[in-house]
Amino acid sequence: MEVTMLSRRKFLQSSAALAALPAVSWPTSLALAAGPAKHSNQVPGYFRISVGDIEVTALYDGMIILKPDILHGTNPKEMAVLLEDGCLYPTGSLPIPISAFLINTGQNLFMIDTGVGTGFGDKAGMIPGNIKAAGYSPEQVETILLTHMHSDHVLGLVDGNGQAIFPGAVVRVSQAEADYWLNQGLENRIPEGQKRFLAKIRQAVAPYMSSRKFKPFGPGESPAEGVSAVALPGHTPGQCGYKLSSQGQSLLAWGDIAHCQAAQFPRPEVTIDFDVDPAQAKATRKAIMAQAAREQCWIAGPHLPYPGLGHIRPRPKGYAWVPAEYRVAGV
Ligand SMILES: [Zn+2]
Repeated sequence: MEVTMLSRRKFLQSSAALAALPAVSWPTSLALAAGPAKHSNQVPGYFRISVGDIEVTALYDGMIILKPDILHGTNPKEMAVLLEDGCLYPTGSLPIPISAFLINTGQNLFMIDTGVGTGFGDKAGMIPGNIKAAGYSPEQVETILLTHMHSDHVLGLVDGNGQAIFPGAVVRVSQAEADYWLNQGLENRIPEGQKRFLAKIRQAVAPYMSSRKFKPFGPGESPAEGVSAVALPGHTPGQCGYKLSSQGQSLLAWGDIAHCQAAQFPRPEVTIDFDVDPAQAKATRKAIMAQAAREQCWIAGPHLPYPGLGHIRPRPKGYAWVPAEYRVAGV
């Protein structure tokens, strides 16, 4: 009580003193100078987890910004609610992150996908810098496992001059996927707007083909030591996921099973314009989401909110995404 009374007396005294002062108008420049300078750069785009003894580093490549009308499979009203719940509406844009994953088993260093490289403007193509920020160099990568051959997964194989960024790496992709994209008749079966991307995809794998380091794998074949391939057709004909296990934990890198967490986890039936076979993509997504939720494995998804690592949990309708949290390394 005493403290309150003292404070009140002091307050009254100081208020009276202030009231006696002439009014001061502060110069605008002085008011602005008082604030700290802003920093426009982001934290480095790498994030690590451990899967048993395996070190997994998510590498941020950047983002592309598309329109929500590329998503299909539910009515517009419900889609608007889904996107609003994900805070993606009503801005009218659909930001899609792009990541790749660097895996160090202790014996081998390999990448799963490579990002978009210089192919999609200045908001992507950050993987070479982020590999270095993570303590590695592109020259150390021994194997590259492509989930599929869309631009945002393969154009990162080369720099702006078409030179291999990973000169020591063998590139592996399913035979079905390689057959589809490298078939010379494909130009005649795809829309006009996609033809320039097809040319870029072929240019990205060309240096690896000419050095005999482009090696597709067949059904049942392990694409790298300790890795099994999981056929996930639909988004593209030969899309594969990659599964690794260590010390009772496992990780599934599932490629483009989901592009929009806000829509496709609660409604796995939602498809996207880029699906080569939407009906098959939907069936595959439903099956692998159910399996991954049952197995409680880590998921690595290149288009899930960065770092694209987390778990999937069942809900009465659809699924929830539980993202990895920042933790002390090795825990
Ligand atoms: Zn993609």
